[in-house]
Amino acid sequence: MRTFFAFIPPPEAVLAIDKWRAINWPLLERPVSPENLHLTLLFSGDINRKQLQCLHDAVRKMAEPAIDLEFNCTGFFNKADILWLGMQNPPIQLIALVTALKSVCRQCDIGIEKREYVPHITLARRCAQLPGLPLIEPAFRFLADCLYLMCSEKIGGKVIYRPLLSRRLMSHDERQ
Ligand code: ATP
Ligand code: MG
Repeated sequence: MRTFFAFIPPPEAVLAIDKWRAINWPLLERPVSPENLHLTLLFSGDINRKQLQCLHDAVRKMAEPAIDLEFNCTGFFNKADILWLGMQNPPIQLIALVTALKSVCRQCDIGIEKREYVPHITLARRCAQLPGLPLIEPAFRFLADCLYLMCSEKIGGKVIYRPLLSRRLMSHDERQ
């Protein structure tokens, strides 16, 4: 199964992002469907049952905190023709969480990407060029307090993401 670790924005944030996207870019060729909007933390790729069990055991032991995320900029990956929503200053807790997940994957014998992590929520694919800067600056905040391992499948030409594992991350107040 094809897998990745991600945060899923809460429904209010999904609705707000979707609305903001439609106002700024009404004519995108391949907008990501609202139910698929997510922040990838780490792409763990194709894994087997044993590796999934290993991830399950390792994720249960993780003690990383919930993270307050603020999405406040847009970007464009030229090579992949992807329009995205990102963060001007990704919090260090986010980078620490990704580092912890890389270590978990290594423990479970799962090969991982070497390229630099650019936290982003993909808004649209197959954009021939940057489809203009947004008229309305993005400002979306949410508390990322549940970590997911997602499975990605293509069914009838449509990409479906399904959670395989989840781990609640405690907020600052709960940790007191
Ligand atoms: P599609 O590839 O059909 O357009 P998708 O990219 O949403 O759909 P996947 O390719 O399964 O579906 O990817 C799932 C998530 O993992 C996405 O956020 C994608 O950007 C990310 N991802 C996929 N491949 C890699 C990779 N090699 N390195 C880093 N992230 C990746
Ligand atoms: Mg892909």
